[in-house]
Amino acid sequence: MHRFNPFEISFETLLEICKERHGHLCAGQVIGARLSLLGLQLIGIKDPHGEDRKKFLVFVEIDRCATDAIQTVTGATLGKRTMKYLDYGIMAATFLNLETNKAFRIMAKESAKEKAKEYFPEIETPALRELLAYKIMPVDDLFEVEEVIVRLNDCDLPGKPKKKVICAKCQVVIRDGKEVYVEDKPYCKLCAGLSYFERKSAHG
Ligand SMILES: [Zn+2]
Ligand SMILES: [Zn+2]
Repeated sequence: MHRFNPFEISFETLLEICKERHGHLCAGQVIGARLSLLGLQLIGIKDPHGEDRKKFLVFVEIDRCATDAIQTVTGATLGKRTMKYLDYGIMAATFLNLETNKAFRIMAKESAKEKAKEYFPEIETPALRELLAYKIMPVDDLFEVEEVIVRLNDCDLPGKPKKKVICAKCQVVIRDGKEVYVEDKPYCKLCAGLSYFERKSAHG
């Protein structure tokens, strides 16, 4: 199933799709799917893969199982620039409606793990207990919701790159305003010393 409306299929069917895309069914798929439905609802998105697909952004704060479910359910992706990844290590995501600017940040409650024991005390495996409990737990027990203001840079919107500059040192093309200015000259992040890797040949 390529395009679907998560609001027009059952939650079990939605989980099946999440499972297929993610590779396994886990508590993260349940959390991610429920978080996505809530987030989309809060910002008034009714058909995220269809006519509303360009009307919202999703900011994810972690790269773990639930992130795949968020991608599956919302249809937002890094490649379409509708999903933004922030490397915070926090199980949370923010949904922004680009037309109304309404935004809500939803964070998974750590206490849900304990609560899951109340639902299925007979199940000893935490992963299975949480998977089952998160399907039926009330939203308030799963998530903390906060309305927020997202300050968005024009260069971060979907569509053609609004800005392209050439690095003053290595001449690489830098898109989307990601250059760093040193003494008024633009540099790519690598040349500006913000690299995530070291060059093997660069020693000496
Ligand atoms: Zn998983
Ligand atoms: Zn450079």
